[in-house]
Amino acid sequence: MVGVAVEGVGKSFGSTRVLQTVSLTVEPGEFVSLVGPSGCGKTTLMRIIAGLELPSAGRISIAGRDVTGIRAADRDVAMVFQNYALYPHLTIAQNLAVPLLMRRLSARERLPFMGRFDRVVARKLEAISSEAQATADVLGIGHLMHRKPSQLSGGQRQRVALGRAIIRHPHVFLMDEPLSNLDAAMRVQMRTEIVALHRRVGACTVYVTHDQSEAMTMSDRVAVMMDGEILQFGTPEDIYTAPSDLRVAAFVGSPTINVLSARTDVDGDVRVGGMRSGLRCPVPGAVSFAVRPEDLSIHRDGMAVIVEQVEYLGDSLLVHARTEHGDERVVARLPVTDRSRVEPGQPASLRADPLKALLFGADGRRIEPAPAARLAANG
Ligand code: ATP
Repeated sequence: MVGVAVEGVGKSFGSTRVLQTVSLTVEPGEFVSLVGPSGCGKTTLMRIIAGLELPSAGRISIAGRDVTGIRAADRDVAMVFQNYALYPHLTIAQNLAVPLLMRRLSARERLPFMGRFDRVVARKLEAISSEAQATADVLGIGHLMHRKPSQLSGGQRQRVALGRAIIRHPHVFLMDEPLSNLDAAMRVQMRTEIVALHRRVGACTVYVTHDQSEAMTMSDRVAVMMDGEILQFGTPEDIYTAPSDLRVAAFVGSPTINVLSARTDVDGDVRVGGMRSGLRCPVPGAVSFAVRPEDLSIHRDGMAVIVEQVEYLGDSLLVHARTEHGDERVVARLPVTDRSRVEPGQPASLRADPLKALLFGADGRRIEPAPAARLAANG
């Protein structure tokens, strides 16, 4: 049974269409990210899954049940947002207990002091309090139970927000940019913690972020969204090494993939600046030749560039250059041992690994070159 199924979901606000026809499945226990630039529709899709927004078309199912018309509270989902959404006047213990109090106690039982007069209520409160403590211990905030949210750091507050979600044992976690209020170091630490928590809890997670490195490092599968559409849905490796579209290729990876204008000659060889690239292409004429910075190396039979700037990164060099033939920008990640071979203002010769380089047509779709041609070129 699928964890979450989004089938043909569209959404318009008035005359503005913000989601085209989006389909997506999340398997049980899977961590899926929705990633894309600001305004591409990630949050809208997440809100539709959550039940906070109705789709204009299509269906949402959770654990095999069609929940399209069902309100958020009855969908068995828990949400974690960027702004934590904690109750400022309640302690951490009380914040964590709220979801269980709401679910397990009647309105009468929730009245103040009921626990003192009613043994059943007292027992329920005790159970809730020990679950809150156990959840806090898992998240490493067990010693902060008596503090108020304002007395915590950003990372600790986000742990409370996560705790309030996991304490409900939902079928699905929905997280919308949960780390964007944290500083860079804390963000990296929390990435690992969220993934570990996800594995431990075993529910499925849908995670919205505009940060491609967050999506790539945390997820089992990534949906890259642009202009209200999912351009590609696949594993991080698929997205990185076999992007279906030039926009996907350019969105993932840092520094950005190099895109150079190229031509397929009459023999089917792809030429970049007149030089044979080692790739053969079934599409004649103009194509885009794309290569990631780490797939370039210094080689005497490479393309001629003029080095502009060399950044020393400790484990590698980032070399910014321009091609001699077309004055196009190229960034190469080279080993530090190449340092003496790349001087600002001087020429260099860079070769793209033909096994890793990618070709895209005029419509932006990737063109698959013949594998035999790649191998021949390499040998
Ligand atoms: P961000 O990363 O900036 O949050 P996003 O990818 O999550 O962006 P959405 O918040 O889903 O994007 O918004 C998608 C588009 O829909 C945007 O152009 C936004 O202005 C528009 N939009 C969102 N909510 C509404 C609304 N309630 N009414 C009208 N337009 C809306």
